[in-house]
Amino acid sequence: MGNTATNSIESMSKNLQNVKCDFPILQKTFHGKRLTYLDSAASTQKPNAVIDCISNFLKNDYANIHRGVYALSQRSTERYEKARRDVAQFIHAKTPKEIVFLRGTTEGINLIANTFGRARVGQGDEVLISSMEHHSNIVPWQLLCLEKKAQLKTIPMFKDGSLDLSKIESLISSKTKLISIVHVSNALGTINPIKDIVEIGKKHDIPVIVDGAQSAAHLEVNVQELGCDFFIFSGHKVYGPTGIGALYGRYELLKEMPPYQGGGEMIESVSFEKSTFKLPPDRFEAGTPDIMGAVGLSAAIEYISEIGFDTIGKHEATLLKYAHKQLQQIKGLEIIGTALSKSGVISFVLDGIHPHDIATILDQDGIAVRAGHHCAQPVMDYFGVPATTRASIGIYNNEEDIDALVSALHHVQEIFK
Ligand code: PMP
Repeated sequence: MGNTATNSIESMSKNLQNVKCDFPILQKTFHGKRLTYLDSAASTQKPNAVIDCISNFLKNDYANIHRGVYALSQRSTERYEKARRDVAQFIHAKTPKEIVFLRGTTEGINLIANTFGRARVGQGDEVLISSMEHHSNIVPWQLLCLEKKAQLKTIPMFKDGSLDLSKIESLISSKTKLISIVHVSNALGTINPIKDIVEIGKKHDIPVIVDGAQSAAHLEVNVQELGCDFFIFSGHKVYGPTGIGALYGRYELLKEMPPYQGGGEMIESVSFEKSTFKLPPDRFEAGTPDIMGAVGLSAAIEYISEIGFDTIGKHEATLLKYAHKQLQQIKGLEIIGTALSKSGVISFVLDGIHPHDIATILDQDGIAVRAGHHCAQPVMDYFGVPATTRASIGIYNNEEDIDALVSALHHVQEIFK
């Protein structure tokens, strides 16, 4: 991509009015109703730009990468490595060498826990996370703590779903070896003050890992400005394919880290006595990677970069405000997660009606929302609910979608009267 995405951001701002037309699935009907897709926090839909790019790549440029001397393999390799450059530019890494391709956020956090974490955390040490983490930023640390006889600690939150940062200092000691924190909560929408948390981490010489699964599609991420040591996101939540994600790590740290998985492509030399390993990022990409996933992710990045985060941010903030206002007018509806700094995730409960029933009835009206614990059971426990219904916003949503949701919720209430 070179500078093209940045140039495009400046030169054109796509009209979000017509953006739905870029997504073929949004033209479909379900149960005879136009699809109102409000589940982008689970996964975003894919624009033609991504679908066509993958299809064209497979038709014209695909071969296995890195190993081939023939032209087609070199072309395919170049597309894969261009994707790495695109990701680096997208999140403002210093160099593409700081970008590791892997399956997604879950695999990224597991990679860090099993390499960096395992080397850094010892018996009696502590790992600090927040009380609003997705299970994928809890369980890998729990497993590590179990193995090392270390302790997992959590930064508490207030009832509006914002973190109580005043408690961080008292939770940190010389035993704290890592902080791993979600950028945007998938269950509450809260945008956490990563820069402040990194600053606290730096003061105590504690590396900070950021789970960017819910932020990368909605906020401009600048890892150098954030100052974090690691940042991970998933392709499928930024309008790209599933099966691909990216891990950013400061190069000095990546270089220190042992391999995660062993196999082809990550080695320098192998004998039965001993193997030596390549430098990062190759060291962490054992085996044939998701080549078409990376190429599709690069197309997705180009697509959202053309729209630009100024446009995306304004659109989604306006829509979130509208949704809050409309939903709060429904009697018996309570929004869970009302932090001032909030992204387009609206979790709610409706008096006397189970979220699964709500989501099932909404589906009959063509509305796709999620119901459950959203892989954040401790968040549900904190708010004293077994589950919530969650509507989440993407670039293609508009006021009409929110109106459809509100009207369908009235319908739900009618049924349960
Ligand atoms: N963290 C957060 C905050 C998430 O929302 C998700 C996905 N719901 C994940 C991590 C895991 O992402 P993935 O399933 O793509 O690995």
